[in-house]
Amino acid sequence: MSKIEDTHRHKGLRKKLVDGLRERGITDESVLSAINTIPRHFFLDTALDNIAYEDRAFEIESGQTISQPYTVAYQTQLLNVKANDKILEIGTGSGYQASVLAAMDAIVYTIERQKVLFKNTEKFILKGKYPTVKFFFGDGFEGLPTYAPFDKVIITCAAPVVPPKLIEQLKPGGIMVLPLNEEDAQRMVRITKNQDGDISEEHFDKFSFVPMLSGKSR
Ligand code: SAH
Repeated sequence: MSKIEDTHRHKGLRKKLVDGLRERGITDESVLSAINTIPRHFFLDTALDNIAYEDRAFEIESGQTISQPYTVAYQTQLLNVKANDKILEIGTGSGYQASVLAAMDAIVYTIERQKVLFKNTEKFILKGKYPTVKFFFGDGFEGLPTYAPFDKVIITCAAPVVPPKLIEQLKPGGIMVLPLNEEDAQRMVRITKNQDGDISEEHFDKFSFVPMLSGKSR
């Protein structure tokens, strides 16, 4: 495998991407700084090297996608990430979102249901840099009861409902951000679990995600 480098050119393109996100209304500097830190081209086929920093989603394997940087930034901003937050991500995909969270000093547990994508994380290029990211092969609807509770939960595929087990696995005071199905697209929803266990819901913009599916693939 050829060595992937993070060149001066990549860094320049990344900075431009971050400027664009700021212009589009992303204000959390810790999110912008994490996106400026993570080399997105490491998560894409080398053929896409020249366009890796365009603000768009790309296909990865198994018919899945690496989310658009704006979407990653938007969702991460809503999650209000603090250093040492224990975060559960549903839908590892390329591992890009997990890396952005790790760059914000979160402890990340991420689940993927596609075997091929999970296998790819074995050669996860930032493993040395972010050893705190833990990868799991499984069904996100089940969460990770063994490791619960979590400070935050982020779902990166279109959820048909708010998964009840993930609410259970959220700490009191915890936050979940998910794209919830609404007609032909998804509404970004933030759920806060109050100290007494009650749930409150806030609604944000519409996005388009690949579906959250039950069970695991082979
Ligand atoms: N966060 C990813 C985005 C990947 S797209 C990234 O940064 O690249 C969403 C991913 O969710 C897909 O890889 C899909 O296979 C996965 N997915 C869908 N349903 C799932 C489920 N029930 N459990 C775990 N992963 C799921």
